Amino acid sequence: MPLYNPDLGLISTVQKYSTKDGPGIRSTVFFKGCPLGCLWCSNPELIRSQPDLLYTREKCARCGTCIKACPRDALSFGEDEYIVIDRTLCNGCGICNKACPNGALELIGKLVTVDELSKELLKDHVFYQTSGGGVTFSGGEPLWQSGFVAQVANRMKEEGVHTALDTAGDVGWCYFEEVLDFIDLVLFDIKFAGQEQHRQFTGRENDLILANAHLLSQRGVPMHVRLVMIPGVNDIEAEIRARMEIVSSLISVKQVDILPYHRYGAGKYTRLGLDYSLLEMDEHGKDQISEIQALVESYGIKTTFGG
Ligand code: SF4
Ligand code: SF4
Repeated sequence: MPLYNPDLGLISTVQKYSTKDGPGIRSTVFFKGCPLGCLWCSNPELIRSQPDLLYTREKCARCGTCIKACPRDALSFGEDEYIVIDRTLCNGCGICNKACPNGALELIGKLVTVDELSKELLKDHVFYQTSGGGVTFSGGEPLWQSGFVAQVANRMKEEGVHTALDTAGDVGWCYFEEVLDFIDLVLFDIKFAGQEQHRQFTGRENDLILANAHLLSQRGVPMHVRLVMIPGVNDIEAEIRARMEIVSSLISVKQVDILPYHRYGAGKYTRLGLDYSLLEMDEHGKDQISEIQALVESYGIKTTFGG
């Protein structure tokens, strides 16, 4: 659910020197919490709006130190003698991961103030200036923490830093309104053209998303539309064409980014105690990628591959 504290943000990391999340060299802030649950999500640790523990069995010596350290009895040994996490009891206090001698537990999610995050982001001001880069707010869904994003983005604008918002767009328009005065570029996902498939693969229909895309366009906000390609799901010609028809109707779109499916996040599902339902899915071959790229480029909009 959205977090309403405009003075504190719940983030996982600040990724420095990113070249995939907008122009130039950027720092990307990954926020926790997202309304969608895309089956291919490569950042499943960012979906919940609270800290999450990642547990790596291969590093665990089964010493039991973490079990003794946990003040909420959220940890126990399972039948196979590895650690079981009761996530309904865990409040993300961060005691067990500090107690673990082997680094088998990692806590994802920390609260930061506007001052702390702004200071961290401004350390790389010189890289932003010399490369035409800046700061990108990503996630998860950064607009679920719109009040906080607005304050940090405002600080960036005061320092002359370019700002980008990477959003799935599935929030009320009021969340956009809160940040748009401080945002230079919106990176906007269009995952499917139709509602039913969108619901089937992300858990939510896309009527709100498409309405927001049109409102952004009407307001003249520069957009890069991101088209994730899931093999056999939304990379077939009819679906790509349907999505590109939508993109073509958005007059403020400057660029289309093709995002090919990959399995980079699969291991994190295991560490979160979740199933990864696309484990058998193959990544695209070179020929398929060329065909997709040619089809998207035929619409005459600047296109990049891989974000
Ligand atoms: S983060 Fe805190 S509450 Fe959660 S399992 Fe670890 S020690 Fe227990
Ligand atoms: S403290 Fe670390 S190594 Fe020991 S049982 Fe817990 S997770 Fe495993």
